[in-house]
Amino acid sequence: MSGKQGYSITTWRLRLRCRHPEWLKQTQKFYNLIEKFYYELFLENEELWDLNSQMILRELELLSLPGKEKRTPKSPLPWGKVPPYFRRAAANAGIAAAKSHISRGKNTPGRKAEQLNSAAVFYKGMYRDFSDSEITLKVWNGEGWEWMRCRLYGKKFPENGQIMSPSVVLEAEFIMLHVPVKESTRDSDSVKVRMKDGRNICGLQFTNGDAFAVGSIRDKDDHELAVCFFKGGREYEHHCRCVLEKIEKSEKSLGSVHTGRPNKKYWMHLKHLGEHYAHAVSREIIKFCENHDVGVIAVPKYDKDYSRYVMGASGDWSPIHLSIRIREYLSYKAWKAGMIAIEVNAGGIITCCGSCGGKVVSVDKKTQECVCENGHRCNRYLNAARNLTKKCRSQFEPGEPDRMKNEEASLKNAGDMGN
Ligand SMILES: [Zn+2]
Repeated sequence: MSGKQGYSITTWRLRLRCRHPEWLKQTQKFYNLIEKFYYELFLENEELWDLNSQMILRELELLSLPGKEKRTPKSPLPWGKVPPYFRRAAANAGIAAAKSHISRGKNTPGRKAEQLNSAAVFYKGMYRDFSDSEITLKVWNGEGWEWMRCRLYGKKFPENGQIMSPSVVLEAEFIMLHVPVKESTRDSDSVKVRMKDGRNICGLQFTNGDAFAVGSIRDKDDHELAVCFFKGGREYEHHCRCVLEKIEKSEKSLGSVHTGRPNKKYWMHLKHLGEHYAHAVSREIIKFCENHDVGVIAVPKYDKDYSRYVMGASGDWSPIHLSIRIREYLSYKAWKAGMIAIEVNAGGIITCCGSCGGKVVSVDKKTQECVCENGHRCNRYLNAARNLTKKCRSQFEPGEPDRMKNEEASLKNAGDMGN
């Protein structure tokens, strides 16, 4: 494969177990106190607002720490000895929160601080013996600093990934360690270059049936190389329905008492179900594309009103609704695998025939088969996927006005969420 190198950052989420979870809570609390201190200090010193982050941190340290010369700082940090890397991580979180407060709050003067509860980030010096099965963290036990060994459970880190500063996230039930991992991508050629090189394209159509999506891969001569239905939609819907029934039952038994707590685990379960399926499907799609050396993945772009209507009509726990998340995951997974996912305007992809370009004259809603004016029969979603592939190719041919728009869409790549 050709092309220059790029990189992507993905967050690995590992389950963490330790002997003193309460110490992690104390650490988090302390972290947020320091975060708040620097948040306010930054807001009070307006002359620092336009500096870059590194300069801001430096200036705030001058204001709050005695330093080597033992001078008296103007606004001393009220807690004696805090490990410098702990303090810096918390201060950076406070600065970031204050910056977003400033950018949001410009129109509402006097609006005061929100709750600061950023997860504690552990910079170098605050952890050691770090692998995908364990980490030893320096934590605050309420009185002093202790090294605490923690076990980790989850996926192995990628071999060539660069591990960045982890953070401890206290969820309702579990303690998680979030670890950003930086990986280089194989190929970061732009969409334009890929199209000019005649790379293979995979067009995708999402459905509300058993297939979450249907893919059709074509080469530069418009030969179809492969077709795939990515299934599991019914199964997903069924799982969701079971959980929703439990929620309904539980709500009934609680009567009008709404504390919000008791059903939280079910709602989390639903969320995890969605994530699980979206990861599985997007992974499958990437694999399919890798096997056929795809350079560009085309997903349909609908106008906002139409999307809202379709999503509304099919409900929050339908396969088509999950397509929002699948697209999101697909975008960064594609990038990591050296492909680019772009949105291609969906206009016309269901009304014409993917084989001859003729008009589609009928659709059998039961069998999902569509028939064109020249008698071609095809699954209507596959037909749409085929058209999308063609449309994607033709839009990048010289002289097409739509070209620039697609290029723009492809730039919103290299995401930083999920795995
Ligand atoms: Zn036809």
